[in-house]
Parts: sequence; C-alpha cells; structure tokens
Amino acid sequence: MEKRPFVTLPRLQAIAEEYPTPFYLYDEAGIRATARDLRAAFSWNPGFVEHFAVKATPTPAILKILREEGCGVDCSSLTELMLAQRCGFAGEEIMFSSNETPAEEYALAARLGATINLDDFTHIDFLRDTLGCIPEKISCRFNPGGVFRLSTSREGFQVMDTPGDSKYGFTRDQLFAGYRKLKAMGAKEFGLHAFLASNTISNAYYPALAGILFQLAADLQRETGCHVTFINLSGGVGVPYRPDQEPNDIFAIGEGVREQYEKILVPAGMGDVAIHTELGRFMLAPHGALITRVLHFKHIYKEYVGVDACAANLMRPAMYGAYHHITVMGREDEPCDHIYDVVGGLCENNDKFAVDRPLPKIELGDLLFLHDAGAHGFSMGYNYNGRLRSAELLLRTDGTVKLIRRAETPEDYFATMVFDR
Ligand SMILES: *Cc1c(COP(=O)(O)O)cnc(C)c1O
Repeated sequence: MEKRPFVTLPRLQAIAEEYPTPFYLYDEAGIRATARDLRAAFSWNPGFVEHFAVKATPTPAILKILREEGCGVDCSSLTELMLAQRCGFAGEEIMFSSNETPAEEYALAARLGATINLDDFTHIDFLRDTLGCIPEKISCRFNPGGVFRLSTSREGFQVMDTPGDSKYGFTRDQLFAGYRKLKAMGAKEFGLHAFLASNTISNAYYPALAGILFQLAADLQRETGCHVTFINLSGGVGVPYRPDQEPNDIFAIGEGVREQYEKILVPAGMGDVAIHTELGRFMLAPHGALITRVLHFKHIYKEYVGVDACAANLMRPAMYGAYHHITVMGREDEPCDHIYDVVGGLCENNDKFAVDRPLPKIELGDLLFLHDAGAHGFSMGYNYNGRLRSAELLLRTDGTVKLIRRAETPEDYFATMVFDR
C-alpha cells in the first residue's frame, strides 16, 4: 500500500518555521480512528479493554487521547506507573506487566489499584512479602517455550518467534502450581497473559494465541478451581513498515478471536471472560512521524544525505536494521531514481535511517517524513554524543498544532551532572 504523509508540505513548512527540526509529529485523527476500530472489532466481548503499552509512546497528551477513547494503560516500571497516575488512570485501568520487578514498583502498583501481572513463580512470595498479602485480582504471564510458528501456504513461515529463548513468563507446570498457591493466599480473580511474537503482519496471530490461551485457561479453571475472569492477548499485532506489506485487518483479527472464544471458552462455561489487549505499535506507529531536514550532501564511495535527526531520536534502524519508509515532502509524485544513504550525525557508523534507498532527487533543506515512528520511536531515544531529545507535536483533529513535549535544552542535559569536585 502506498504510504502518504498525514500532513501536507505547506502545513509542515509552517510548523517547521515555528518549531525547529527535528521533531515528532502525531496525528490525533488517526490515533482516534485506530482506537475506535479496535474497540469495534472486539465489541462482541462486553469486558474488552485495550491497555495501551505506555513504553511505546510515554507522552501525556497521547495517553489522554487514548483514555478518552476508552483505553487503559499497560505499565512496566515505576515512572510509567507515575505517568499513568498523573494522566488520570486509576485502578483496573492500569495493568502492571513487568519483570525483575523491584519491591517499590509492586507497592506503587498495589497502591494505585493496578492489576498486577506476575512474570515468574518466585514473584508470588516476593509480592506477598512486599504487600503483606496477595491482591484478590491477579494475573500470570505464560511462556509456552519452544518455537511459535504460524505458517502460510505460499512463503513458509509468516510469523516465527522463539518463546523458549525469551526470559518472560511461567512454564505451564508453574502456572498450575502458581494459580493454586495464589488461590490459597486469597486471590479470587485470575488473569492469563502471553506475548509470543512481536510486530506480526498476520491476521492469524491473535486468533492462534487466543486458541492457546483459551484452552490453557479452561484447563486451569477446571483443574485448580480458580476463577479466570480475563485473558490478555498482550501486544504484537504489527504494522506494515514497508509499502509492499499487507496491513493487518483488525476486524478480521477480532472475528478470528471471537471464533476461538465460541469454540473453546463458551463450551467450557467461560463465556463471561473479558478479553484484554496491550497493543502499542498497532495503536500508534502509523500515527507518528519523525520530521527532519536535509543539512548536507556527501559524495564519496556512496551518496550520503545528512539530516538533522540521528539514531538518538529514532533508534530502530540502527538497533534492528528496521525499515522506516521516507517521504521527501513535496516530491511524492517524482520518480525514485536516485539511490541514497540517509544518515544522522552520531559518531557511530550504524546511524543510518536508510541504506541504498531509492528516493526522488533530494535538495538541501528538504523536509523528510520518516513514517511509522509513533511507537517505539521517541520513547527509545537517548542522549549519546550529547544529542538532545526532540520536541513532540500533536496535529489535532481541528488542524491546529500543539506542543506536547518541548525539546530538551543543554540545561536538561547538564542537570544531572555534578561539576564541583
Ligand atoms: C512491549 C509490550 C507490549 C506492546 O508491544 P507492541 O509490539 O508495541 O504491541 C505489550 N505488552 C507487554 C508486556 C510489552 O512488553
């Protein structure tokens, strides 16, 4: 599918006159539309809730928009819990899914009334020792081990991940023992959670995961007598970063999960179980872009386009070799007949937003729109080379632009340093 920016060149030029590049720009209309589609796709399940994964886009204005659309949040650290609280989330709106969790984080989660999702069997005692008791509502994360595969008829494996190599979750046996132990300690409502594959471009991932978790929940409830009240399919529904990838159809995904629900949970007498999700990327990635300006050209063994953003602003290409589509603003309809490496200024040779990318002929001063940066983009930023975090801007549904996070200044960078020796 062709990728088009959610902003026009004249609008972006006007924004860039007020706010210097680089900056992140988010599209409120797109965020709301995706949140509504997700809710509609799961409207067959009365208890359905999306707990947006805060780590994907920890920005108050964004979290508040999602809250208005009926979403809760999924937090994994002390500051994410504090951020959720400051954005008005409370109680069961907050899911706390962390690992190697410090005691103070469990204490804050409990104080906020968040639903705690335990990552390991040993955390049962740790939580009881921390809180003095076990909350009545509790969840456990499952790791089935081995390799998780979803095949397609044409190209081999469409989705493949290796839960057996991942550090998260309880084994199956530990889950049965854990539920019994939690019940004996006073827990009354149980949840089940798993995250088996990341950034899946397949309408089959959630239904396949649902099939596994629904069967396991039915076995757990039957054998332990624990009352399972919610099942959390977590994150992992992806977005097409490349224009040739087919986007997920959230309605087909919701329908696929419903079929598993009717097939497994309803006959088990568990037709009251609520479905929860913790999507990050699917909710936000397409609705945020990194905007950067072309500063330099360099002609050596390759053609380099130097821009004013760098991997410290958007780490995914440097870290994972991830593809982010680039639109040269105003040249959308020109032929991509030039091959460029688009690079940032870090003193690291992996600081490349694109390698050997066919693009239209670029001019100095052009604005580049790096697509699909709305999740795991700004949030993975860092200060290497003394680079400062950029501003974040919201393009509102009424067409106006609001600063939702100011850019860091050198004073921010120096604030934690101790100069007197
Ligand atoms: C990162 C994460 C998510 C969100 O993942 P996406 O790929 O952004 O959907 C959800 N749940 C947990 C526990 C996570 O760690």
